[in-house]
Amino acid sequence: MNLSLSLLIMLLLSLPLMGIGLLALYERLRSSYRPLKEREHVHFCSRCEHVYSVSNRRPMNKCPRCKQLNKAIILN
Ligand SMILES: [Zn+2]
Repeated sequence: MNLSLSLLIMLLLSLPLMGIGLLALYERLRSSYRPLKEREHVHFCSRCEHVYSVSNRRPMNKCPRCKQLNKAIILN
């Protein structure tokens, strides 16, 4: 009786945890299909120290604050 009660409590605790884990796994697989890192690069402006991201399709973009062309310093 004591064993079955503790088993019941363990099941009651582990089943929602497993459900949450499966949901988290599903969400991770769904959202990591095309991560932001593959589409954009983070640049650090050497003049005004502004950090901004630029699409991979336009790698030589200007800094949005001081209009200086970025150097190829890629943080990620
Ligand atoms: Zn700048």
